[in-house]
Amino acid sequence: MTALRLSVAQLARLAELGQAAWPREACALLVGHADGDALQVTEVVLANNISTDPDREFELDPAVHFATLRRLRDDPARTNSIIGHWHSHPNGRDAPSAKDAAMVSDPGLVWLISAVHDGRALAPRAFRAISQETGFAFLPLTIEQQD
Ligand SMILES: [Zn+2]
Repeated sequence: MTALRLSVAQLARLAELGQAAWPREACALLVGHADGDALQVTEVVLANNISTDPDREFELDPAVHFATLRRLRDDPARTNSIIGHWHSHPNGRDAPSAKDAAMVSDPGLVWLISAVHDGRALAPRAFRAISQETGFAFLPLTIEQQD
């Protein structure tokens, strides 16, 4: 997998969510499936950031996580799964922070991150957490926009 494919509408929604939550971090689950060499996002599921320090970190609402897992499991087609998550970095970098790196527990998940500077969201960047001998590393993914 080298690319993450999102629609223009999904990218616009993420920008809106990041801007609405600013100066706090916003977060969402990414649902989708593998399609050739890309990961196709089919759904962005907004989740409350339940962190006690939401200006500096995020914690996805586990109720939304479980409800999404259940819904995908009950779908007879079973086409999609949770492929990763998105969160915003208010006035931060568009790359995983040291705190993010410490949070990785599930290698293979996509980390999509939008920097939001002074309430304006920049284009997100995507990474995939991979397991290495020394711990976890983030491999950049190309973002493919589709209509
Ligand atoms: Zn972060």
